[in-house]
Amino acid sequence: MTVSHILGYPRIGAQRELKKATEAYWKGDISRGDLEATGQALRLSHWQIQQNAGLDFISVGDFAFYDQVLNVSVMLGAVPARFNAQHEVSAGNVDLDTAFRMARGRAPSGTPAVACEMTKYFDTNYHYLVPELHEGQTFTLASDRLFNEVDEALQAGFTPKVTLTGPLTWLWLGKAKGSEFDRLSLLDSVVDVYSEILARLATQGIEWVQLDEPALVQDLPLAWQQAYERAYHRLQSAPLKLLVATYFGALGDNLSLTTRLPVAGLHIDAVRAPGQVESVIDRLSPHQVLSIGLVDGRNIWRADLAALRERLLPLKVRLGQRLWLAPSCSLLHVPVDLSQETELDSELVGWLAFARQKLDEVVTLARLIDNRTTPIDEQRVSEATYALDKRRESTRIHQPAVSSRLAAITPQESQRQSPYAARAATQRRALALPLFPTTTIGSFPQTDEIRAARRAFKAGELSQTDYEARMREEIAFVVERQQALGLDVPVHGEAERNDMVEYFGEQLEGFAFTRFGWVQSYGSRCVKPPIIFGDVTRPVPMTVKWSEYAQSLTDKPMKGMLTGPVTILQWSFVRDDQPRATTCRQIALALRDEVLDLEKAGIRIIQIDEPALREGLPLRQHEWQDYLAWAVESFQLSAAGVKDSTQIHTHMCYSEFNDIIGAIAALDADVITIETSRSDMELLDAFQDFAYPNEIGPGVYDIHTPNIPDVAWMVALMEKALEKIPAERLWVNPDCGLKTRGWAEVEPALANMVEAANQLRQRY
Ligand code: GLN
Ligand code: ZN
Repeated sequence: MTVSHILGYPRIGAQRELKKATEAYWKGDISRGDLEATGQALRLSHWQIQQNAGLDFISVGDFAFYDQVLNVSVMLGAVPARFNAQHEVSAGNVDLDTAFRMARGRAPSGTPAVACEMTKYFDTNYHYLVPELHEGQTFTLASDRLFNEVDEALQAGFTPKVTLTGPLTWLWLGKAKGSEFDRLSLLDSVVDVYSEILARLATQGIEWVQLDEPALVQDLPLAWQQAYERAYHRLQSAPLKLLVATYFGALGDNLSLTTRLPVAGLHIDAVRAPGQVESVIDRLSPHQVLSIGLVDGRNIWRADLAALRERLLPLKVRLGQRLWLAPSCSLLHVPVDLSQETELDSELVGWLAFARQKLDEVVTLARLIDNRTTPIDEQRVSEATYALDKRRESTRIHQPAVSSRLAAITPQESQRQSPYAARAATQRRALALPLFPTTTIGSFPQTDEIRAARRAFKAGELSQTDYEARMREEIAFVVERQQALGLDVPVHGEAERNDMVEYFGEQLEGFAFTRFGWVQSYGSRCVKPPIIFGDVTRPVPMTVKWSEYAQSLTDKPMKGMLTGPVTILQWSFVRDDQPRATTCRQIALALRDEVLDLEKAGIRIIQIDEPALREGLPLRQHEWQDYLAWAVESFQLSAAGVKDSTQIHTHMCYSEFNDIIGAIAALDADVITIETSRSDMELLDAFQDFAYPNEIGPGVYDIHTPNIPDVAWMVALMEKALEKIPAERLWVNPDCGLKTRGWAEVEPALANMVEAANQLRQRY
């Protein structure tokens, strides 16, 4: 029989129960006991769902109140000293509030301390807490949570497989603190604790433990490759079976090292890397299990069961009992349950599968290749085939005008008329800006009243006319404040936007929105990415009336504000029936029309935000060039149609720029504003080293804190910037948009910022 399993299930709950409970606990509205009870109820219900679906194992260890990587850090006793938890660590029992303090700096009990750093998990939008590693650090088993969850599952009568981040991936995700040292020097002590964990799990009666090692799909230094063999040879002695899980890409040059690991099974991603399946099977030893991930764990499309059956049959012949089936990765990265989407039209629903539905797909596939189908399996296959045939032909997806426009793109369309130097001269004349022009990144505080107005409009309680009047009032207020502050390039404030991607997706054709399609982003935070299902077009202008109105209130050049094609792509679920590059170009052309309409309406400065450009980088370096080429081309396509005198800005945040500085220069934006204040302008080094030719606004005001930056501090930051970039090419602006801040902070902060620019002008 083919074993069906999953690598992990979403923990937030179909109604985001976990989010609500943890936030209520942090606020003091519910007790620790209530929170634990919610966690337990969610686990039990998720296990029940998995068992009812017919999976051979239910997944234990994928639950976390905040983050699964943090769970492992806590379990290894890797709690930084500032959290004062030495006693808890040595007692083998790190408190939940200690874990929350590591994640968010504070918790209902314990002294606040600086939270651990958080960053994106591989190429997903899920953020994990970065393990802090110190030279000579030792580890010790410091939490019973996992074992308790195993007991809970066993007592409820389930057959668990335990999942845990593997020791090397955990170290790989960690960051050396204090003095630089080789993280691998800690491996032996880490593996000691893993051995202890595995031994404990074995005594509990666990047969299989899945160790997630997605680091194996990245470029690893030789020492890390060798460490894999060493570590797993030591873990091999555990009296249970290990399944090493890899996902998000191909094993590539780590292929033979991975297949040689002395473990009972491997999991590979056959969605992202379909080509590797046969070569992995060739190298597998005769008793090893291979779990093949053919159901997409990163996207929301329904699986083509009939086609997958054909793909699997020859593999089944080769592997027999050793074939396991699973989604490509943990289902953490997709929404929970499609059956809640009662407001999506039924045709579209027919094309989709969320986590709950993907369980059925895996189980049915296993029964299909075993020839033990039930009527329900037959029905699932025929429904999938029918829906996907429809999808292939649907006129909602394929618009001939879009493909012919794409096919007709000429190289000139992605180039501005003149090179930057010539444009800069024209713009200087046209815009008459002072040295060190001041501006903001686009959004102003999103007050409760603004949110309430948007909500009332959506709910039909506020008429279109009243809503627009309300938004114009807000724009007038924001413009007036900026005039009073003396900002050189004002913005309209983005009051009408709930989210920088959703706002555009809702107005573009080819996008769909779910009601409950939440995916965990970090901790209790969830996002609801749009679904790009069809060719993208822009039926009518999206931002022009707001920008035009804002411009009518001032003689200063009003900056129009758009989200760039790569960011829209990156923060959506994307079609799987054409390359990402194609979808990105389609979005780019829609934005190009918007840019040109803004220009026609008299907007002389247009900003196209691309905060997600860097996070789109593929996991393997040899794929970077191809990605950057189409990403850059897409940005250019959206921007380059304007006259020389129209100034194009772009904005990027939470980025290191070293890897992509060439691509940033190739965007050829006239001005780029970036987040730099927290790095003390160090992020500008990449621009200096590259001799970046265009204008830069290095953020001088960290918008992530409520602190009001003082004038001298901002001047000092600009002085640092001036060591790297000439004055004629520098702008003065905050790090990012101000929507999460309040007016009480924003006004004095911007007043100081304008004053800093004035002082600089006197000196240069
Ligand atoms: N224009 C957007 C804003 O100001 C940019 C947000 C972002 O960079 N994430 O909010
Ligand atoms: Zn930003």
